Amino acid sequence: MQDKIDLLRHQTLEPQSLFIGGDWMQARSGATMGVISPLDGRRLTTIADAGAEDVDLAVKAARSAFDKGGWSKATPVERKKVLMKIADLIDKHALELAVLGVRDNGTEISMALKAEPGSAASTFRYYAEAIDKVYGEIAPTAANVLGLIHREPVGVVAAIVPWNFPMMIGAWKIAPALAAGNSVVLKPAEGASLTLLRLAALCAEAGLPEGVLNVVTGRGAVSGEALGLHMDIDVLAFTGSGPVGRRLLEYSARSNLKRVYLELGGKSPNIVFADAPDLDQAAKVSAYGIFRNSGQVCVAGSRLLVEKSVHAEFSQKVASFAASMKLGDPLDLKTEAGAISSEIQLMKDLSYAEQALAEGAHLLTGGKRILEETGGYFMQPTVFDVEPSMTLAREEVFGPILSILPFDGEEEALRIANATEYGLASAVWTSNLSRAHRMVRGVKAGVVHVNTYGGSDNTVPLGGVKQSGNGHDKSLHAFDKYIDLKTAWIQL
Ligand code: ADP
Repeated sequence: MQDKIDLLRHQTLEPQSLFIGGDWMQARSGATMGVISPLDGRRLTTIADAGAEDVDLAVKAARSAFDKGGWSKATPVERKKVLMKIADLIDKHALELAVLGVRDNGTEISMALKAEPGSAASTFRYYAEAIDKVYGEIAPTAANVLGLIHREPVGVVAAIVPWNFPMMIGAWKIAPALAAGNSVVLKPAEGASLTLLRLAALCAEAGLPEGVLNVVTGRGAVSGEALGLHMDIDVLAFTGSGPVGRRLLEYSARSNLKRVYLELGGKSPNIVFADAPDLDQAAKVSAYGIFRNSGQVCVAGSRLLVEKSVHAEFSQKVASFAASMKLGDPLDLKTEAGAISSEIQLMKDLSYAEQALAEGAHLLTGGKRILEETGGYFMQPTVFDVEPSMTLAREEVFGPILSILPFDGEEEALRIANATEYGLASAVWTSNLSRAHRMVRGVKAGVVHVNTYGGSDNTVPLGGVKQSGNGHDKSLHAFDKYIDLKTAWIQL
């Protein structure tokens, strides 16, 4: 497989276009943006920089397709066929998509293969298979009345997605939205648009009618804002940062009160008790739980809480494992942690490390930029012992930096774990079944892993509590965002 990857890595890429109403087109203004590869700092190609007028065109195309009914009124079985075909096409082009995505955002290819085309194909299949099992309801009314509860598509869905896993997170939103019969306008991140444009082409090839999926690329502050403020979008589903999530709620309040679902960041606690079944395994999985994709993972276990009696020993294990990870060329199948997605992000990560040192945190390993001679953006996996009051213990870095904090007993573990504005993911490592369940109940987060970190599949929901957001991706619960309930109250 490495040979094929090496052939694909140098492929020249054409300038990219917007995909609106089934046509590829430039922005009305003609504006474009350079796409810089984090692998070597060089320009890969350009994307169209959509303005408000392009967004409006895309929303009109989506609305018109919805109203025509070619997709929204197709039977679930018809929609299922097209979605299955999309999944097959993603599988067929998996390697090409993975390499394209890695050149764009820097994720290590071993992870990208599974998490990007791999996950996207399985997500399309999951919702394709699910949609003809969604029933309406008959209410338990009096005998002279019939109360029917219909399930209907919401209409036009906007999906704004980030750069860390564009295909996976894109599919978590697009697949259930399309399965339910909606039209979608997708806005990829500036730093990861290429695979989603390719996905749009595959959707068209699979027979998705024109206008049902539209892709507008460009700056979040321009095209993202235009989506947020648009008067004819029914639902906006977002994954990204807290500050942008807040703006989207404001846009909704200032426009048509579109429903806004947010999957925001986290500062997820990974809690290791001295009675964890296997401390070596826990150390390895904990390191992977933060350092894969160089920590650019919303559910990353970025706060490691370790019981005092094993704190020194366990911290050393994690630091040694981190220091031994294979870094560098994201297109090498053996690489375990790839590039930082952009120069700006790299500088932000490095400044968090500098600030931690200035605040007196103890550096166990890492902290430096590496491989600068490649022109790419790489940083060592970095581990700090911190105090709860330090910046690194509180703020989401979204980079390869782990903070370790000691605790004494369950009560203190929960106090530290929950002392955050976030509530996305978490983990507990223990051999004590009762303790595991007590901790699952006590941790305020959307997901609590037990004796593992990450790796959940489509069958379970993912969503945050507190300032990590609202609503859920994945599982049948994702349909709640994209399907409306309508009551028919019939006097008999
Ligand atoms: P990240 O930290 O993942 O870059 P962002 O929240 O900055 O998170 O970006 C996530 C997505 O939000 C991207 O597609 C980006 O273009 C978009 N975005 C950024 N700013 C805005 C904005 N003001 N309005 C709407 N979308 C935005």
